[in-house]
Amino acid sequence: MLIVMNADATDTDIRRVIETIESLGFKAHPMPGTNRTAIGLTGNQGAVDPAPFVESPGVAECVRVTKPYKLVGRDLKHDKTVIRVGEAEIGGDEFAMIAGVCAVESREQAMLTAEIVAKMGCKWFRGGAFKPRTSPYAFQGLAEEGLKILSDVRDEFGLRIVTEAVDEPALDLTEKYADVIQIGTRNMQNFSLLRRAGQARKPVLLKRGMSSTLEEFLLAAEYIMSEGNYQVILCERGVRTFGDHSRFTPDLSVIPAAQRLSHLPIIFDPSHSTGNRETVIPMARAAVAVGADGLLVDVHPYPERALCDGPQALLFDMFRDLVAQARAIAEIVKQHSDAHSVYSTVK
Ligand code: PEP
Ligand code: MN
Repeated sequence: MLIVMNADATDTDIRRVIETIESLGFKAHPMPGTNRTAIGLTGNQGAVDPAPFVESPGVAECVRVTKPYKLVGRDLKHDKTVIRVGEAEIGGDEFAMIAGVCAVESREQAMLTAEIVAKMGCKWFRGGAFKPRTSPYAFQGLAEEGLKILSDVRDEFGLRIVTEAVDEPALDLTEKYADVIQIGTRNMQNFSLLRRAGQARKPVLLKRGMSSTLEEFLLAAEYIMSEGNYQVILCERGVRTFGDHSRFTPDLSVIPAAQRLSHLPIIFDPSHSTGNRETVIPMARAAVAVGADGLLVDVHPYPERALCDGPQALLFDMFRDLVAQARAIAEIVKQHSDAHSVYSTVK
């Protein structure tokens, strides 16, 4: 259930509703909006009696949420969620570029890449210290040593760090070192890891399972939010189909579909979805055009020697080109969506 407060409800009114929810043994999730606060109620198995809430001061209405997800949906929060870490944001006015190495391989490789990412005015750096590899014999990442290098990247260039946690012990460590904790495609339905991420006090970048539906994707985000962490970024990274010309099939249609149902920002990973650097820029352009809130891209100073995913890593020149193109397209998309909202108001 969702309890919508009046625009003039006081903090005391809101607190009273939260206390009532908790006294009934449920969990309260207050979501302040531009005009009013809505409070999500979770933890109930069947329908909840709205009686104790309708009489409570400041309550406008109680709404039953019929969708399987409650907290990720636009019913609870109409305004788009913006993730902010210092000056860097995802889902806000500025198009978010998260770029860097697939795996942190050495200090030199990470620093060289971070330098160009920062020089292009990007605010986020990606790099895996724990790598989910198909083969147990493949490079698994530098673990904590990699996290320390990422921490030095932040100190040196002011970039915010996005890095993956493959399991709970890795999550404990990434929470300590990173700015955003990434959950990879193979872990999208690792429910204990999702719950642990929900207890973290850092934003979580959740990649779509390679064969998951949009509803499953949103329910995975709901796991994180149900634990009280509302800072979730969705990421489309391609799904499995019969197509074999591409590593995965980028499903760009999920971007506007997710934005219609959810207030969470959604970005696109053209690197892991295509697996091939020649296809990264065209698919990234398309994702910006459909309204993605950002991109997550692999770059490498010498991809022919990369220990992980070299064929999809952009060369520095290609990366510069991508940033310029993405910004130009994002600006056009923004102008058109602004024009559209004016048009809707006039009508
Ligand atoms: C990654 O981003 O480094 C990664 C392993 O991605 P995915 O989980 O989408 O395969
Ligand atoms: Mn990779």
